[in-house]
Parts: sequence; structure tokens; C-alpha cells
Amino acid sequence: MQYISTRGGTLGQFSDVLLEGLAPNGGLAVPETLPQLGADDLERLRSLSYPELATEIIGLFATDIPREDLARLTAAAYGGGKFAADEIVPISEIGEGMTLVGLSEGPTLAFKDMAMQFLGEALEYVLEKSDRVLNVLGATSGDTGSAAEHALRGRDRVSIFMLSPQGRMSAFQRAQMYSLQDENVHNIAVEGVFDDCQNLVKRLATDLEFKRAHNLGAVNSINFGRISAQIVYYVWAWLRVTDAVAESERAAFEVSFAVPSGNFGNILSGHYARSMGVPIRKLVLASNENNVLDEFFRSGHYRPRSAQDTRATSSPSMDVSRASNLERFVFDLLGRDPERTAAAWHELEERDEIDLSGERDRFESEFGIVSGTSTHDDRIATIREFSENGGVILDPHTADGAKVARAHVEPGIPMLVLETAKPAKFADLIIEALGTTIDPDADTQAMLDAPPRVTNMPHDEQQLRTYISERALS
Ligand SMILES: *Cc1c(COP(=O)(O)O)cnc(C)c1O
Repeated sequence: MQYISTRGGTLGQFSDVLLEGLAPNGGLAVPETLPQLGADDLERLRSLSYPELATEIIGLFATDIPREDLARLTAAAYGGGKFAADEIVPISEIGEGMTLVGLSEGPTLAFKDMAMQFLGEALEYVLEKSDRVLNVLGATSGDTGSAAEHALRGRDRVSIFMLSPQGRMSAFQRAQMYSLQDENVHNIAVEGVFDDCQNLVKRLATDLEFKRAHNLGAVNSINFGRISAQIVYYVWAWLRVTDAVAESERAAFEVSFAVPSGNFGNILSGHYARSMGVPIRKLVLASNENNVLDEFFRSGHYRPRSAQDTRATSSPSMDVSRASNLERFVFDLLGRDPERTAAAWHELEERDEIDLSGERDRFESEFGIVSGTSTHDDRIATIREFSENGGVILDPHTADGAKVARAHVEPGIPMLVLETAKPAKFADLIIEALGTTIDPDADTQAMLDAPPRVTNMPHDEQQLRTYISERALS
């Protein structure tokens, strides 16, 4: 399978785009054609375990990695007791016609582990084959950094430099990163806010000479390896729900998904699963107060907001006002035409806006995408109601998903709400909603008690350069 840029030109194979998701012309890597799964193909996948299914689905995209190698990578990513649930992704009904898809059983208790654990294995494999090393540089306000560190810790050919804002993360988030004692993990707490961290990363990553000299790379949400690994759980969830459906009716049995969204990575994978032939009726996009994506799917106007206009909310992992993966959807919307896609992003640069209002009606009719916004009060009320009625405690992001999903539940169509994090990560909000704390388990307590391994640094580019130069793998 060849990969192309959304703005034109070819980029190589899966292993090539794994290290660099961004094309030189600013576009994003996408597969030249999407593989298709017919009803017979889906039935053939029914008996597989989660890692086996991951081999089959990711294998449709990673055609340059031999199947037996890929099977080793998925077995390592989703085995070895790293996920709390034996089935890796458990499915449970939670009332109101909704079913929870448990994507947060991994080491950092959030859905990013689903993709990042695979990416960690795949990166090491590709680097070994080409006898290279990679120094991952990133900035985090919480979840992405910890998922990346837990996926890359202890590996030989990868090190990770993760910038985080000093004093701006929860105790739980800090502990998840700073408790890691692995030598290849470098936590750098910068004096400033998340945007200061992000700007430092940008300055170094756009200095091509420095980037090349120190083998710098990223594992951010535009990474196609992550997108491909996320498609797996859409297929898995459909298979598990239809296990109970009569065989003759399975092929036509549709489900809908509700997806708490920020960078549009998770729901993009759902869009791909649907385009590949998985019977998905609707993809319900949930935004929090930073509802740039809800605005886009309602009006066709994409208007990213600045950092100053992005609010700090109680579902912090969705505090995104520029959805880095949206370009891949717009590419499909515009008939996979690279010239029209490039023109749209040119328009964005010129006017801070893309006007696709002429295509608005196609979002739902052709792509099944509907959207809505959930606020702090909604999230509190939703957590309370699901706890009282169904006995399940939702995390604030998942609560945003359930809140928005409510307006789109249809009789006979299961609404699958993606659980993007565990409530234990957001104890303060759970206390506000339910008046109770969630006691940490023994592993979590040990993590919270571990001595922090972190370097404090002023907001100083030169100091960061020196720090990386002295420690980067070469
Ligand atoms: C990253 C994240 C999201 C948003 O996912 P995108 O792929 O960026 O849309 C939602 N919830 C949680 C808990 C997350 O960590």
C-alpha cells in the first residue's frame, strides 16, 4: 500500500510514514486507497482475539511489514498484562440504549494507549530494520505525553524528551510521567504554560539542521500508525455487539459510535472504519466548550481558535481549537482531490477560516457524522445520572460523549460510547459530581508515591537545545 499526501505527491509505504506523518508540502499522509471489508471478511474476523484482529486490520495498511512480524508486534502491544481487561477492550451496556466501549484499560488509563502501545512496538521494529535511532520530542498538557512515555520507556533505539508546563498538571498526570525511572525517558518541566512548551518544540522541530543532527521526531496525533491502530477497536466493537445477533441479520446490523473529540484522530479512525465497510450508521462527534469541531459540522465553517481563546475545561484532553486531523476528512469530503484540499488550507492561512458550507448537507447524509457540545454542567449532570441509574462512573470526557449521544440514540441501533479515560484520572471532578472519591488501586498508589524524575527548566530555547544535544541517542 502506497501513501500519498492530502496536498499531492507520494510518500512511500507504512514504515516510511510511521516516522513522519507530515508531508514536505504540509499535507498529511493518507493511504492511496482504503481497503474494503465485505460481510464475509467481517465474519472471518469474528473468532479472533484483539491482538489477532489488530494484525489483520493494521496489516491492510502496513503491507510492507511481513504478517508474522506484525503478529509479534501486536502480541507485544496488547499482551503481557499491560491492559487490565483480558479482552483488552471490554464492552458493557450502561442504560439509555448505550454501550460503553472500554478503551482505557491500558497503562495510563486513557484511550491513547490503544494506539501508542502499538506505535512503540512498530517504531522500534522499523528503526531496527533500518539501523536508525529516534529521539522523540513533544509537549504535553497531560495525556498524550504519558501515553507516549509508557509506550517508549525502556526501548533501545528510541528516547523521549517530553516538555510539560510546571505546576499546571494534576498530581495524577504528573505522577504518570515523572514516576518513570527509565533512562530513555526525559521529563522536562518548563516554567510557563502548555503553549510555551509547544512553541519550544516547534522552534526546534522546524530547525531542520538541529532536527537532522539529533534524529528528532514526533509521535503526535497525526501519526498514521496511530490512526490505523485505532480503526481496530471500531471493528472489534461492531463484532462484539453483533455476536448476539442472528447470523442472517448480522451483515446489515448497524451501530452508532459517540466519540469525545479534540484533534479529530479518534473519530477519523471511525470514519475510515465506516468507509471500509463496517456497518456504522452514525458517528456522533462530541465537543466540550472548545467546540470548533461542533461548529464545523453544524455550519461547514472551520474557524480554529487561538490559544487565548481556548478555555481550560474539566474535560482537558478535549481543549483543542485546531484539529490537526481534520484535513484528512476534508480530503475525502473533497473527493480526495489534493488540489482542492491544498486550496482549502491555503484559504485557512489567508483568512483563518475554511468555508465548506456548500458541502454541509453531506456530513450526515454521506459520512454519517453529526455533532454536539457538552459543557461543565452537562458533564456533571451526566456523570451523576449514569452513576445513579446504571451504576457506572464515567470520566468527564466520556460523559461529554454520552451527553451528546443522547440526542442521537435511535431504536434498535446500539449507541456505542467510547470510554476515552478512566474516572480515577479526574478525581476532583468526580468528587464534584458524586461527592465520593475513587480509591486508587495498589499500582496507582505506588505510582503516586514514586520519587519524581524530572528536570525543571526556565522557558529558554538555548538551554533546551543543550540539554537535548547532551542526551539524545545517536
Ligand atoms: C486525546 C483525548 C481525546 C480526544 O481525542 P482526539 O483523537 O484528539 O479527538 C478525548 N478524550 C481523552 C481522554 C483524550 O485523552
